[in-house]
Amino acid sequence: MIKMSDWKNLLYAGKAKDVYETDKEDEVIVTFRDDITAGDGEKKDNLQGKGNCNSLISSKLFEILESNGVKTQYIDLIKTGSMLSKKLEMIPLEVIARNIATGSLLKRFPFKENQKLDPPIIQMDYKNDEYHDPMLNDEITISLGLATQEELDEIKSITLKINEILSKFLKEKDILLVDFKLEFGKDSKGNIVLGDEISPDTCRYWDIHTLETLDKDSFRQGKDNVMDIYEQVCSMIVDEEDIKRWNSD
Ligand code: 5GP
Repeated sequence: MIKMSDWKNLLYAGKAKDVYETDKEDEVIVTFRDDITAGDGEKKDNLQGKGNCNSLISSKLFEILESNGVKTQYIDLIKTGSMLSKKLEMIPLEVIARNIATGSLLKRFPFKENQKLDPPIIQMDYKNDEYHDPMLNDEITISLGLATQEELDEIKSITLKINEILSKFLKEKDILLVDFKLEFGKDSKGNIVLGDEISPDTCRYWDIHTLETLDKDSFRQGKDNVMDIYEQVCSMIVDEEDIKRWNSD
């Protein structure tokens, strides 16, 4: 049982999450904040309850991945909004998987809007605000010392597996997984482990029937019901039973 006194120093504050030390050297607590940003941080807001929604969705999806043999940072959702996680040394890559052509892909390349991408596209961006997260290729990534070829191959193969598992799971919930961004790190043994979050902030989810947006694109597009959309998608992905289980742990 984790107590409030287990929250130690703030290790890292990101755009929408904070990471705290715990008594254990190899464990951290990730807290999900209500801040929301878009467009390289130019558009900002604070949506009450967003952090809680994202923590519930991420925990559920990490659990689904773990039960399918994918190593993640997730240990437990100790309370809504706060996830006990393995401490990772993060690799500064944004690993993006795309099943449907939309978003920035259409601005950069002559794909048709909503064109099915089969096989899916995997794209790596350099997580670096100063350089505005530029797209990488393997040679640049290796030359920058961000990862080795073996590590890149492993990251791509895990990402394809994650895409298969989550696409299937979300389809059963009437959600189309259009694209998503992952971040990986290394644990104390040097294993590549999935970190960060998988939430409406980092994925495109579309209603499978209407193709309506169920994610952060609603904020990017300036809709006035963004929080309703986050709550809707949260209730589609996370069962009442999950919440009861987390609350009773
Ligand atoms: P796009 O490149 O089309 O803007 O984004 C592709 C997918 O990756 C979307 O699901 C988007 O949410 C996610 N993504 C790409 N870059 C970032 C980023 O810097 N932050 C977050 N939260 N998601 C990103």
